[in-house]
Amino acid sequence: KLDFTGKLLKKLGAPMKEETVHAVDNVDLTVTKGEVVGLVGESGCGKSTLGRMVAGIMPATEGTIRWHGKELAELTGADGRRAKLQTQMIFQDPMSSLNPRLRVADIIGEAPLVHGLTKRADYEQYVDEQMRRAGMDPSLKRRYPHQFSGGQRQRIGIARALAVQPEFIVCDESVAALDVSIQAQILNLFMDLRRDLNLTYLFISHDLGVVEHLSDRVVIMYLGRVVEEAPSEEVFARPNHPYTQALLSEVPRIEARKKSFAGVKGEIPSPLNPPPGCHFHPRCPHAFERCRVERPALKTIAPGHRSACHLNDTTG
Ligand code: SF4
Ligand code: MG
Repeated sequence: KLDFTGKLLKKLGAPMKEETVHAVDNVDLTVTKGEVVGLVGESGCGKSTLGRMVAGIMPATEGTIRWHGKELAELTGADGRRAKLQTQMIFQDPMSSLNPRLRVADIIGEAPLVHGLTKRADYEQYVDEQMRRAGMDPSLKRRYPHQFSGGQRQRIGIARALAVQPEFIVCDESVAALDVSIQAQILNLFMDLRRDLNLTYLFISHDLGVVEHLSDRVVIMYLGRVVEEAPSEEVFARPNHPYTQALLSEVPRIEARKKSFAGVKGEIPSPLNPPPGCHFHPRCPHAFERCRVERPALKTIAPGHRSACHLNDTTG
């Protein structure tokens, strides 16, 4: 079985530029080859931190990341470089990850040239091919990033990622900054690429509606912990965790375009000083005494469906 497994334990928060790195506490996440896993939660829940750890660009203080069954930290030399290249991350704002002084052709072609994935002689053709795959016109390759729209810039970022022949792509809010119509185009592109190149995705989003359309499996995080995990249809048909239920009530459904007013009540507490017991208890409409003192374990409640809520013990 070819799989990617990340087991990550307790990452303590530390300030990193203006952004805060949030704690990820005892998360065990497996992404199987060919799968699309949606990772959902409010901002500050630790999903970006988890994504960076999984992509190998941020170390976990404890725990391991396994790539095709081998520990990533132990892969050295050519194996290590290949493993790193095969995981690519696509961020929300392509402008901050595209060198403004480089032409698109160099942005896309630099890494594959360095890593020997293409030769000088085939370089131009190689770049053209990546641009076409990302839905761009190769005749624009002499331009600079600022000469493109937000959606086109995201396509440049995608072409750059594809150019190193990845297997696994971590998308962190990759469509969040785009207009809804452009969002749909980019999401469709991700799905076409999955089919054509047999890609595996970890798709991180605060928006359950975005994740619904493309994920095989959905993982819901709250304050650094996974609270629910299930096949996509299962999460949307039978959400178990009160937090998931609250998140879902905020997604305008196709069958009932009315927005529910239930939603998630209250402010998200600080991830660096989370409430004891079940982290969700101050906002949970079903909280009872046990929730304030005891951490609920992530338990299997149906095949492939896990949830961390004490209610499953009392009503089960
Ligand atoms: Fe709500 Fe308690 Fe379940 Fe937490 S464990 S989600 S507080 S009912
Ligand atoms: Mg984030």
